[in-house]
Amino acid sequence: MPDLYVDGRWRAAAAGGRREIRCPADGTLVAEVDEATAEDTAEAIAAAHRAFHEGPWPHTSARERGDLLLRVADLLERDKDAVARMESLDTGKRLVESEYDVDDIVSVFRYYGRVAAEDAGRVVDTGNADVVSRIVHEPIGVCGLISPWNYPLLQVSWKVAPCLAAGNTFVLKPSELTPHTAIHLMRLLEEAGLPAGVGNLVLGAGPEAGAPLSEDPRVDLVSFTGGLATGRAIAAAAAPTVKKVALELGGKNPNIVFADADLEVALDYALTAVFLHSGQVCSAGARLLVEESIHDRFVDALVERAGRIRLGGPFDEKAETGPLTSAGHRDKVEAYVAAGIAEGAVLRCGGKRPDATEQPELADGYYYLPTILDRCTSDMSVTQDESFGPVLTVETFTGEDDAVATANDSIYGLAGAVWTQDAGKAQRVAGRLRMGTVWINDYHPYVPQAEWGGYKQSGVGRELGLAGLDEYRETKHVWHNI
Ligand code: NAD
Repeated sequence: MPDLYVDGRWRAAAAGGRREIRCPADGTLVAEVDEATAEDTAEAIAAAHRAFHEGPWPHTSARERGDLLLRVADLLERDKDAVARMESLDTGKRLVESEYDVDDIVSVFRYYGRVAAEDAGRVVDTGNADVVSRIVHEPIGVCGLISPWNYPLLQVSWKVAPCLAAGNTFVLKPSELTPHTAIHLMRLLEEAGLPAGVGNLVLGAGPEAGAPLSEDPRVDLVSFTGGLATGRAIAAAAAPTVKKVALELGGKNPNIVFADADLEVALDYALTAVFLHSGQVCSAGARLLVEESIHDRFVDALVERAGRIRLGGPFDEKAETGPLTSAGHRDKVEAYVAAGIAEGAVLRCGGKRPDATEQPELADGYYYLPTILDRCTSDMSVTQDESFGPVLTVETFTGEDDAVATANDSIYGLAGAVWTQDAGKAQRVAGRLRMGTVWINDYHPYVPQAEWGGYKQSGVGRELGLAGLDEYRETKHVWHNI
């Protein structure tokens, strides 16, 4: 069965391109999929444009659109096992993590299914009884949705659910490395009754299949999640047609541990913060800032525990983390660690691939050992650049002001965490961090009703929550002189 979905039909790429998808855990062939070119994307844009400007979808009631999203949530729940398996084969991540992801995806569809009809606008008091002045929400139009490989369907759901709730049409271009769950989602949207042309799917490389979404004047909004360099290119390509642009980019997220924290708990979370999914998480706590007075005992314990983390493939139930996504990505992580050591960072553990004689099943995967670089400073490339791998850098600070200044010394501002048992200090520091999410005595949790996004060069706009719905809506003032 062909893999591109355009105007309500499944079809192959016009130029006949195909791509092999291989599991990063052992290199086995998962499947071959169709690989679109700019020509396919242009057709998908045309279909989305027709569906928006000629079709009934933007004028359906918000309740109807919400009901469709709720049906999709039910279908995803029905297919949970198959979807989690697909996600793990494409990404190499542990099956249990993919299962959590599917639960989260279901919640995102349910949340937007429920709020779709909640907020119909407002009436403005003009002081004139003969005038009715209303503020109404309308869909933006055709949306180009471009997503990454680390949380493939989760990132897609953060875009597709609010996009449809608001009444838009879309062309989705998921990462070329991890297409299977996006294909499955389109089948579920079809099964749930999405009209032809409202949702379209193209697969393929960014510069070919993705680029038209930021350039084409028929696209009204491009919502992108991915790396900073790609985000800059997309914003530049979208500028001539003054598209709305929403960007969810990278992060170099500080995890700040004060001496008065519950150190046992902080230790466990510091490991999960950075090594979950081998560090391939935009909000990974990859930059540990630890108060100088506890540096030695905290970092010694961290190194000891990091050395015991077990690597393994998606179906290894004892594995605690998995492989990197590709050989090329592992090469980049290796170069990043080498640069840090050359700059003066002290390698405390990891810094290499696992020994395949000890764990032969890892030999063909793109594994890299959990790595800790100690005695780093904020002027080093390793504390400033995102590695997107299992690498923790350690810096020290003395007192609140130093912690805040060091944490904010970054071009990024996606997320961060504060560990202390002093509630006042926790709130003061959280208030001064220039980041879209701050966790206090926790790391990583999120809920679909709370906004997600970055300050500074971590992005533009918000996903999730009501602001995530607003990204997909225009606001109109209707003045009626009765
Ligand atoms: P990437 O930028 O390489 O690719 C992301 C997507 O953009 C892919 O679908 C790719 O094909 C497409 N693309 C590439 N060039 C393009 C172009 N010129 N025009 C249009 N599309 C193009 O990112 P990645 O390696 O897939 O993902 C990792 C990055 O994503 C990390 O930097 C991570 O921090 C970031 N990320 C951010 C968030 C967040 O919420 N802020 C979430 C997940 C990932």
